[in-house]
Amino acid sequence: MTARPVGESYSGDDFYCDVAIPSSRELSVEYEDDHVLAFHHTKPFWQTHIVVVPKRHVASFTTVGEDDADLVRRLLVVVQDLARRIEHSEGAAAVLTNLGRYQDSKHLHVHVHSGGTRS
Ligand SMILES: [Zn+2]
Repeated sequence: MTARPVGESYSGDDFYCDVAIPSSRELSVEYEDDHVLAFHHTKPFWQTHIVVVPKRHVASFTTVGEDDADLVRRLLVVVQDLARRIEHSEGAAAVLTNLGRYQDSKHLHVHVHSGGTRS
């Protein structure tokens, strides 16, 4: 039997608050603490594709404010660690966050990826 991806049929606009964070046990988690969750994308676009999110809701990179400074610092520590590990193992990595109409899920999330596209 093949497990269905977590939230496969989800059609809302905050996959992270609604599905990923409450269901983290069902994800392929790379890192998790009280503030930050990093996991392998349930529908990867690149060969290596990890998503890093704050567990508290933050709408996007451009809505980050003073009150979010500590949380975003924690997030970036995790992004840096994962990016460094992928850079070393794959020889290249990219860090990406989408904004505006490019951002499907309206919760700040950072993609750390490497390798060709899967689609
Ligand atoms: Zn959210």
